[in-house]
Amino acid sequence: MRHRPSSSPGSQEPLFGLDAMAAAPGDAPPPSAPGFRDSAQARRLLAIREIHAEPAAAASPRGRQILARFPDATLIEVDSHWRIPELHGNEGSADRWMRIKRETLVLGVKKTLTTRPNGRSADWIAPGPSNGCALSCVYCYVPRRKGFANPITLFTNIDGIIAHLGRHVAAQGPKTEPNQCDPAAWVYDIGENGDCSVDALVCDNTADLVRAFRDWPTAKASFATKFVNPDLLELDPRRRTRIRFSLMPADDSRLLDLRTSPVDRRIAAAADFLDAGYEVHFNLSPVVLRPGWQDAWAELLRHLDDVLPPRVKQQARCEVIMLTHNADLHEVNLRWHPRGEDALWRPAAQETKRSQNGALNLRYRAGIKRRALAELRELVARHTPWLDIRYAF
Ligand code: SF4
Repeated sequence: MRHRPSSSPGSQEPLFGLDAMAAAPGDAPPPSAPGFRDSAQARRLLAIREIHAEPAAAASPRGRQILARFPDATLIEVDSHWRIPELHGNEGSADRWMRIKRETLVLGVKKTLTTRPNGRSADWIAPGPSNGCALSCVYCYVPRRKGFANPITLFTNIDGIIAHLGRHVAAQGPKTEPNQCDPAAWVYDIGENGDCSVDALVCDNTADLVRAFRDWPTAKASFATKFVNPDLLELDPRRRTRIRFSLMPADDSRLLDLRTSPVDRRIAAAADFLDAGYEVHFNLSPVVLRPGWQDAWAELLRHLDDVLPPRVKQQARCEVIMLTHNADLHEVNLRWHPRGEDALWRPAAQETKRSQNGALNLRYRAGIKRRALAELRELVARHTPWLDIRYAF
């Protein structure tokens, strides 16, 4: 493994010999058994050539596991996973968007462990095991926080994250009132800022969380995904993890969900995941309004009804989330995927809203959104009457 010290202004010699540490045979915990993550298909999605790592993250057991998986990658020491000038805030990186997502990893230590209340999709938003993603959904809000191409940052202090969650779960006690998140369990979203199925191509953070939740009878993990990772079928979640496959019409997905598993593959995987012990829900999201959207969604829903077996339908619920876009993201997307913006950027149908962090977000105008949601509810009632909508937003 080649090693480059931090390129931050004012940085000194590397804090320790990362080369020696990464190369020490038998020093790192053994990587888990080969699986899909070692397949040619997985390596096409993630061919890591560059790892930016905080020293403490690289030195941790999880960090060493990850470094051992990519012995040919160049290791670059960084002071903070939040401040990597060549990745974040670098307008030039828009032109290398896909390559950065495929070839770059960041390792960091999550300093602040906070569980936030939610109440819509989940009761709680857990401190996630990652931030950033190797997939390239054009509308993704995750790059908004770090800026530009935002490859996977994995947090290596997964034991600390799980210990924090264990304390939080214990403090809640049993859930006494059913709500839209779940009738009986406190639901924790563990994938707010990434895709846990993709993270599992790199390390065991997702596996560790799934295994932790199966021992907490009052709680349930939940994450949305656009990627089918068969390795997750081996984790024995015992119904304490809800996987939510995100769906949109195939034509929209081909234009907007770049690098993801095809939508029909996600649907076809639902029964496998149910049989492996997951609860399987669906996210109808984002709903992108364009000429003919109603017909496209009706076709998708009819396909769901045709192919899903009764046991999947019996337990399935869904969320509906209308597109939210963002002015800065629009400008960036124009540089690497302008065709996607033809569908996403429709100012005549959208209104702006300044978010708490000052970003200018765009949503469909209130009347347009209200009518579209009513139409989608009708389509669900007609074509997939077994599919309860947990919430629509
Ligand atoms: S899968 Fe999720 S986190 Fe990854 S790019 Fe798509 S929307 Fe973003």
